[in-house]
Amino acid sequence: MDRKFLKEQEAYFLKLMDDIRNKMSKFTGTHLTNGDLVDQTLTRDENNKNIKLNKRLSSFLKKITYSLHLIENEMYGTCEECECTISKERLKARPTATMCVECKEAQEAYERCTHKNRSIHQVQWMNVSNKIQ
Ligand SMILES: [Zn+2]
Repeated sequence: MDRKFLKEQEAYFLKLMDDIRNKMSKFTGTHLTNGDLVDQTLTRDENNKNIKLNKRLSSFLKKITYSLHLIENEMYGTCEECECTISKERLKARPTATMCVECKEAQEAYERCTHKNRSIHQVQWMNVSNKIQ
């Protein structure tokens, strides 16, 4: 992965982290104890929505932190399964991707599948995982 691209991704992640932290600080929740039942219910719903949103943002924040860690350790853009280089197109579309398209699709197919055909996907998944070795 070339340095210029890594620098761009790093700058993007740092900016995104700032944005997310700003957003999260706004969702600390309102604690309305006054008002009628409708107000209280609306506030509770709003708080629950914010809690969910905060959870999503903090999980995204973890992914970003991990991507920055990968950049720092010169591992960014390397598929965690097959160790091939993840395409720039994929990293631009999904900057926190840790797997190449083939591995991700195989993993998703395996996870989606329940019961009887699962073993087929597991074999495909293992084949993809081992393709470089
Ligand atoms: Zn892969």
